[in-house]
Amino acid sequence: MNDEDPPFSSQVILELNQKFKTQWALGSAESLLAWDLEVNMPPKGSASRGVVLAEVSLLTQKQMSEIYPLLDKTDSKQGDLNDYEKGVVRILKRKQKFFTKIPPYLLERERKLAAEAYVIWRDARKRSDFKTFQPYLEKFIELKREEVDKLGYKGHPYNALLDQFEEDFTVEDADRMFAKLVPALKTILAKVQKSKYTVDSPLVEMSYDEDALAKTNRQLVEVLGMPKDKFRMDISAHPFEAPMSREDVRITTRYEGTDFRRSLFSVIHESGHAIYELQLNERLQFSPIGVAVSNGFHESQSRFWENVVGRSRGFIRLIRPVLQGNLNFVAPFSDEDLYYYFNLVRLGMIRVDADELTYNFHTALRYELEKKMIGGEVSASELPEIWNDKMEEYLGVRPLNDSEGILQDVHWSHGDIGYFPTYTVGNVIAGMIWHNIRKELSFEELIQSGDFNPVKKWLYVKIHKWGATYSPKELAEKSLGEPINPDRLIEYLKWKYES
Ligand code: MG
Repeated sequence: MNDEDPPFSSQVILELNQKFKTQWALGSAESLLAWDLEVNMPPKGSASRGVVLAEVSLLTQKQMSEIYPLLDKTDSKQGDLNDYEKGVVRILKRKQKFFTKIPPYLLERERKLAAEAYVIWRDARKRSDFKTFQPYLEKFIELKREEVDKLGYKGHPYNALLDQFEEDFTVEDADRMFAKLVPALKTILAKVQKSKYTVDSPLVEMSYDEDALAKTNRQLVEVLGMPKDKFRMDISAHPFEAPMSREDVRITTRYEGTDFRRSLFSVIHESGHAIYELQLNERLQFSPIGVAVSNGFHESQSRFWENVVGRSRGFIRLIRPVLQGNLNFVAPFSDEDLYYYFNLVRLGMIRVDADELTYNFHTALRYELEKKMIGGEVSASELPEIWNDKMEEYLGVRPLNDSEGILQDVHWSHGDIGYFPTYTVGNVIAGMIWHNIRKELSFEELIQSGDFNPVKKWLYVKIHKWGATYSPKELAEKSLGEPINPDRLIEYLKWKYES
């Protein structure tokens, strides 16, 4: 895949990359600590782990300051730099802005709180008791509002948080995206109401043996071509993907006892994230741009593999032997039965279990709540009620308890406010990928034959190999031919559900 000149030749950029290696290593260590916190750590370890994570981010901040004098030298050299090198400067300036504006005490408080809040959230969710989590969320809202003030912003204060997950993406962009999507999705949803997509499958209620499904999942990642020597899979309360480097990428799943597709599709989803990390350009490794470009692009990879590939008829034909070989109860069901089970459209409570038509209502709801939190329009104690009202408004269902309502997501326990809209950005980009890839590859045939290499190569050439060379908005235009366009997702969903 080394098909060009060396990406870096400017002396100052080479020096910056060299200095950045420490940053990269600290980031990798942080990723491992965070992975361990959710996979292995005994619950009482959370306070001391919080101290460790806080100290690591303070070190990160401190070490970054050694880079600034060198970074300032690039101001006069912009004209001599190639795209990769300009990318390095862009990413480092973003970090400079963040770390010079956020005071160390704030960073420390946020990191400590996150480690403690995660364990509290996990327990509160189990007992469906928002009250024990509420003070932590209150604290986070307070800290994030302070962060926003320190960072500064144009327009809505929420923009300062959104930008950290999706560079240059603003409330205006998000409003426009949801304003287009929500009514279009409602229209498609109304059309499928009397179709096979809404007929309950008996598989939903069926229980499975955990070992048998774990074996299925292990074979599934082989089908997807995940490299055994660079990849591992574990169990956590909320499935996630964590990269240590492009040679060590990890995912998790969960086993809940019934409705096996929930575990199965979390594996495909997280594997999609992992493929991005595993395929990052080797020549950019350890540099500031040797990373995924944004959360939205990252999520587009997971949603592409999960939905566009994983929930297709061709993929079901491909994995039927794996399912049937491990899960006896699947045998009586036809490929079509499985297709409608995997694609069951339901007005449900849980975002991660939502089908492709209702998923974005869940993110729209969280986005509206977060804007209010950061805009100072609500207090934490009012949130469960507003959450439930919004669920009724968007999905016509009302959560019976906090566990299936406001406590369902891990994000706020990490202090991640501003993250949710990027899930919908990811869905939209996955729609744009679908729109483009089928013009260039016999995409459906490749899926059914299990020959994923041309698909991975395509994703590499268009997205993975660039790392963060370009901003996400630039990369969308360059590689997918247009700015972030929700029409492509609508097109895909119409093709899938209406034809
Ligand atoms: Mg994801």
